[in-house]
Amino acid sequence: MAEDRLIDRHRRVMPNWLALYYADPIEIVHAAGRHVTDANGKTYLDFFAGILTNAIGYDIPEISDAVRKQLDTGVLHTSTLYLIRKQVELAERIAELSGIPDAKVFFTNSGTEANETALMLATQYRRSNQVLALRNSYHGRAFATVGITGNRGWSASSLSPVKVSYVHGGYRYRSPFADYSDADYIAACVADLRDVLETTTAGDVACLIAEPIQGVGGFATPPDGLFAAMREVLDEYGILFISDEVQTGWGRTGTHFWGIQAHDVVPDALTFAKGLGNGLAIGGVVARGELMDCLTANSLSTFGGNPVSTTGALATLNYLLDYDLQANAAQLGARLHAGLHALRERYAVIGDVRGKGLMAGVELVVPGGKDPAPDMASEVLEHARELGLLIGKGGLHGNVLRLAPPMTLTPDELETALGILAEAFARLPAAMH
Ligand code: PMP
Repeated sequence: MAEDRLIDRHRRVMPNWLALYYADPIEIVHAAGRHVTDANGKTYLDFFAGILTNAIGYDIPEISDAVRKQLDTGVLHTSTLYLIRKQVELAERIAELSGIPDAKVFFTNSGTEANETALMLATQYRRSNQVLALRNSYHGRAFATVGITGNRGWSASSLSPVKVSYVHGGYRYRSPFADYSDADYIAACVADLRDVLETTTAGDVACLIAEPIQGVGGFATPPDGLFAAMREVLDEYGILFISDEVQTGWGRTGTHFWGIQAHDVVPDALTFAKGLGNGLAIGGVVARGELMDCLTANSLSTFGGNPVSTTGALATLNYLLDYDLQANAAQLGARLHAGLHALRERYAVIGDVRGKGLMAGVELVVPGGKDPAPDMASEVLEHARELGLLIGKGGLHGNVLRLAPPMTLTPDELETALGILAEAFARLPAAMH
């Protein structure tokens, strides 16, 4: 009898709601640089893992060697009741890089846990469980973070421990203010924020949490300056500002190290994850010391900031700073966006191109209007895969292609990816051209 395929075994023992990409899902068994190889021996250029896991690239000796050396000590983890040197070193570096005055850092295993911690801090500090979030947001899938995720497809539960009100700002393309100028858009969002504060809250709101560029929400990118204008209103109420930098941190946006810096805002707390570990599980919160210290008992988990993940994170941070990968993100990002805008000229199915640096979103619509075209997004994904390129999709309607290559991307690899994308679009039905 033939052995069951991995996909059949997966379906049998794993939850139905664990989504998989592709009609015939991929199992990656080897990776190097910006390339991954599947179980059938096919190699792909990876234009998605840059945010999800491997921010910098696969199998980088400086990072692998540092982690291997830590493994060789035999100390994979110790009790959090002992000192962990790499954790302290990493916290010092992140506190300084954050730009937050008197900053302190707490490490977690994931972005979800980072945001859960930030919510715990803000709600305790302000003694209020009222939270503002942006429509179309994604902040994780634990109990409180699901409650502030403004995207039906990702909200596994509506029974939230926080009382959330959603405001406009993140997803401009489908907002009522889509056609406004930048200045008018910002003014409209500020007016909406005021209205929400006055009509749906008691005023004693703990915080506003925002992604500078909405990741799962389809790389929706607000105009620079939006959050500074919103912050002015928040300050009138004493409401804290939390920047969720799980996708936008570490220089990926090219112009700034943190996404929120494009808005000239220093947040009260900033959360990070994914990219910093370059594949290892790490996340965390950096916050004003007074805010961090408002808790009176240990938070969350005894695994966060273990010696292995903090060693890997420290090596990743050193690498991305030593090689100025932010500059690479800016330079290649400009070429990536130019290439995508050129595609938009050729294909009516492309309704919007957005993002910053090595974070580019392409929203697909039914030509002639703005109706979402998720089937076309899936088709492009399949064609690109066949041609040797992995990309992501997302957005409220599943109709946004997401490109986020590792930050060590080379110009040649970028041209290869743009060539494959052009071919993938050329294969769409003629009505989409
Ligand atoms: N915040 C943002 C902006 C994210 O994109 C994600 C993950 N997609 C999270 C939080 C949650 O991170 P994790 O999957 O590590 O829990």
